[in-house]
Amino acid sequence: MSPMGLVFNWSLLAENRGNGLSARLAVVRFKGQCDAANLTALNSRSGVLGWTYMTDGVIQPFTDIDCDSIRAFLGGDLATGPKEDHERTYGRAVGRVLAHELYHIFVKTARHSSRGVAKPYYSVQELLSRDFQFEQKECDELRRYWSDLVTTGF
Ligand SMILES: [Zn+2]
Repeated sequence: MSPMGLVFNWSLLAENRGNGLSARLAVVRFKGQCDAANLTALNSRSGVLGWTYMTDGVIQPFTDIDCDSIRAFLGGDLATGPKEDHERTYGRAVGRVLAHELYHIFVKTARHSSRGVAKPYYSVQELLSRDFQFEQKECDELRRYWSDLVTTGF
């Protein structure tokens, strides 16, 4: 998301003292094992990789990323690649799942696109690809969100 000019400050919820100031906030919970250690070359298993909460049809700024599901989904293909690339490739895949959920939160939409990171479903090849990003429309929506933020402040 950085090529779009979106800047994030990450902090641990446990270290939050309630005195921080932020323009917008999203709380992300990473579940399971979030690294590429001890991958097994099993066939990929599909499942839900991440989700964002809704209440009465309104998107809430809370999202869960299921690291174990991402590992299981990519495991077979990731394990067959060069070992020195495992962490970076896995991390990029987790980042894409997170970017998808942050799109829902910041644009305040449950909508999906037919292509790119805002698709509802990914293939293993897309998540492992060097070049898999948001489409132009979603980039524009995120940029609009960001410029509104800069203009209106809080
Ligand atoms: Zn989605």
